[in-house]
Amino acid sequence: MIVIVKPEATEKQIAHIVEKAEKLGLKAHISRGVERTIIGFIGPEDVLRVIPLEVFPGVERVIPVLSPYKLVSREFRREGSIVKIRNRLEVGGKKLIIMAGPCSVESLDSLLSVAKKIKAAGATVLRGGAFKPRTSPYDFQGLGEEGLKYMKQVGKECDLATVSEVMDPRDVELMDRYVDIFQIGARNMQNFSLLKEVGMTQKPVLLKRGLSATINDLLMSAEYILAKGNFNVMLCERGIRTFETATRNTLDINAVPVVKQKSHLPMIVDPSHGTGRWGLVGSIAKAAVAAGCDGLMIEVHENPEEAFSDGAQSLVPENFSELVGQLKKVALAVEREI
Ligand code: PEP
Ligand code: MN
Repeated sequence: MIVIVKPEATEKQIAHIVEKAEKLGLKAHISRGVERTIIGFIGPEDVLRVIPLEVFPGVERVIPVLSPYKLVSREFRREGSIVKIRNRLEVGGKKLIIMAGPCSVESLDSLLSVAKKIKAAGATVLRGGAFKPRTSPYDFQGLGEEGLKYMKQVGKECDLATVSEVMDPRDVELMDRYVDIFQIGARNMQNFSLLKEVGMTQKPVLLKRGLSATINDLLMSAEYILAKGNFNVMLCERGIRTFETATRNTLDINAVPVVKQKSHLPMIVDPSHGTGRWGLVGSIAKAAVAAGCDGLMIEVHENPEEAFSDGAQSLVPENFSELVGQLKKVALAVEREI
């Protein structure tokens, strides 16, 4: 249930509506947009049906939300959300965000070296996994806290924001100290304990779509985070499993405009995992920008042959830099900027 408040409604009237709903055991989320203020009520809606909210002073309209997700829906917030990173970068506005870096943090030297190059090419966020969700338990699992320390140090030295995957609710507090954005990986999209845990922080979250998740599933997972009070969520299309075997995954480009229609949250695209092959990354990155995404996450490695993980889909810095130049032109064509 969404209550649209009249433009001239007073704070007292808004508080009265909230108080009434909370007395009935519902949780109220107020969204103050540029054009209008909206109150979203979460909880058993039957309760609300018995009180005529329409007659409350200050109420313009009451709309039942038909979608199973509420806080992430466009109905709840008509304007697109802007997620702020370190109070400096904005995701969801005219300017696109470019996140780049190695799949895994491998060493301090290699991270610093690639970070300088991706920064020079135009990236503003450094990616690097310290906890790696590998299919095989015998593959490299990441450097753990040591890797997080490198992320923090290099981020500071190069003035780049940082994003790294958190796999376990027990690591949220630890990671909170080291990185600027929590990445929830595809395999953990429905790890509800993890979603709730990051929802209890105010740190930006990059929520990746699960391997076999529908767009609806992705939005429901985001709803878990918002319902706990953290609205700083970015969604990420990273390819899904289909019958196609020519590429590692099938990047669902449709998901970009679909999510933008259904939700106010920013949408990031990861063409690296979406294709699994470095030679395809550029085309899909350009398609994603043309389709209206708010940013890209691209794996970059100085020596892909020796990469601890995902070398086959990693761009070398020179190719990455050239790609960013091309992306700038695509962005301009769709009235965006890089
Ligand atoms: C990654 O970003 O390196 C990663 C493991 O991504 P995903 O969860 O999308 O597979
Ligand atoms: Mn990877």
